[in-house]
Amino acid sequence: MSERIGVFGGTFDPIHYGHLIAAVELRHALSIDRVLFVPAPRPPHKRSGLVGSDHHRLAMVRLAITGEESFEVSTIEYERSGPSYTADTLVELHEGHTDAAFFLFLGEDALRDFPTWHQPERILGLAHLAVATRPRSHLDLDQLYRTLPEIQDRVTLVPTPSIGISATDLRARASTGRPLRYQTTDAVIDYIGEHGMYRTRNTV
Ligand code: ATP
Repeated sequence: MSERIGVFGGTFDPIHYGHLIAAVELRHALSIDRVLFVPAPRPPHKRSGLVGSDHHRLAMVRLAITGEESFEVSTIEYERSGPSYTADTLVELHEGHTDAAFFLFLGEDALRDFPTWHQPERILGLAHLAVATRPRSHLDLDQLYRTLPEIQDRVTLVPTPSIGISATDLRARASTGRPLRYQTTDAVIDYIGEHGMYRTRNTV
């Protein structure tokens, strides 16, 4: 049987338990063999909002997934210039694993925005979408299917414990000295402290 590979892209600024819980739930629900976390150095949607430098965001992903055998980091987007388009990443991953089936992991907010991504139809030709939804989701699927009909047969929604953790909130917490504990791993919290990250709004 061909290998089933999950691809979880994000800015991970910083990675947190919302990401990790979504990753284990999606992996289990779709019988994924391994999950590649793919930090984006130049995310097209968020260029102005990035705060942690590339190497710090990558280091925190590595720390957060240590010990989980089925999770790996891919630096594929660090090795390319230009915007970090998911479509290009999937093309490259396919070239390296011609027999594998790819599943793009997304949170519900990312699915809502998906039609505005660069070449969404191309992405759908390369990967199935695996989406972590909230149990009583307010996502307007009819609207999504009207906007991008091709998505309908290429998406699996997986109800996931509702985790209101966001990297934006973690950065705000770090900058004002509020607790990060239980929102991301202790290793990531220590790393943020050791490097004085997110203390101001300047890039660290
Ligand atoms: P920010 O607050 O800086 O926008 P974020 O916490 O949303 O960041 P990203 O790195 O932008 O994190 O997200 C990467 C992926 O993880 C996206 O598909 C997003 O939907 C998903 N995701 C983020 N937070 C959660 C969460 N709490 N539960 C489930 N999925 C999440």
